[in-house]
Amino acid sequence: MISFEGKNVIVTGGSRGIGAAIVRMFSKLGAGVAYNYHKNLHAAERLQTELQKYGTDVYFADCDVRDFREVRSFVRNAIEKLGTIHILVNNAGIWEYGPIDKMSVDQWRKTMQTNLDGTFYFTREVVAHMLEQSIAGHIINIASTAGQRGEPYYSHYAATKGALISFTKSLAAELGPRGIHVNCVAPGWVKTDMTEKAMAQQEKEIVKGIPLGFVGEADDIAGPVIFLASNLARYINGEILNVNGGNVLCG
Ligand code: NDP
Repeated sequence: MISFEGKNVIVTGGSRGIGAAIVRMFSKLGAGVAYNYHKNLHAAERLQTELQKYGTDVYFADCDVRDFREVRSFVRNAIEKLGTIHILVNNAGIWEYGPIDKMSVDQWRKTMQTNLDGTFYFTREVVAHMLEQSIAGHIINIASTAGQRGEPYYSHYAATKGALISFTKSLAAELGPRGIHVNCVAPGWVKTDMTEKAMAQQEKEIVKGIPLGFVGEADDIAGPVIFLASNLARYINGEILNVNGGNVLCG
């Protein structure tokens, strides 16, 4: 029912975890995919090898989302390799423990630059391209339950994710009239490298706060992203799709 043949997508931080699951699912459904990584080349290469079975175009490169010039050049290269970009998923992010009285200015800034500035840089470049091409595009931002209810010891992270939610709503109103949908997916606990340590230490405790009784997998986030980018969601704009097994209801 859903096909992305003839469409191209950029997924930031698409080399591992949730981003890689999103890249895989788009590629499986026929889309050309571009993804960036920053530190882990091997993961990016492994994914490229895996994607060969789907036979769609693939472009990946090292691009630090905190650096506007790198982002601009990545987007230009992606357009050159794949053609028109129809979908952007702003997924790259970091989640680092940071009690407020001990948080360094550098740690605060790094989280802002990665989770928020990076999203702005990619969105700016891709939206300019979409408007120039007059295409009906989709921007999907990956926020977090932390952006809605806050998260103790991760106030910097929660602040970026809350900002992504208002960024999404603002752009949905601004770009809807130009044919571009802007939505957000807000995951709860998902098993990836990001949460590996927390899972090892307190998975049982975490599961107690999830009404469905299990921690999500990366594919559980990729599915809703695919839905939002598809024609099935053609009347959805400026929404925050919560994907957390009901965890956000439990305080
Ligand atoms: P992972 O840590 O598993 O993967 C993060 C990805 O982002 C990697 O591909 C990494 O590439 C990339 N990345 C990080 N920093 C940069 C940078 N400066 N420039 C370019 N790429 C970068 O995270 P998840 O898959 O778990 O998370 C993905 C998104 O989902 C994040 O925005 C996160 O906040 C959000 N989320 C995750 C939840 C979870 O429980 N896992 C819950 C709620 C939200 P590389 O390794 O090469 O640096």
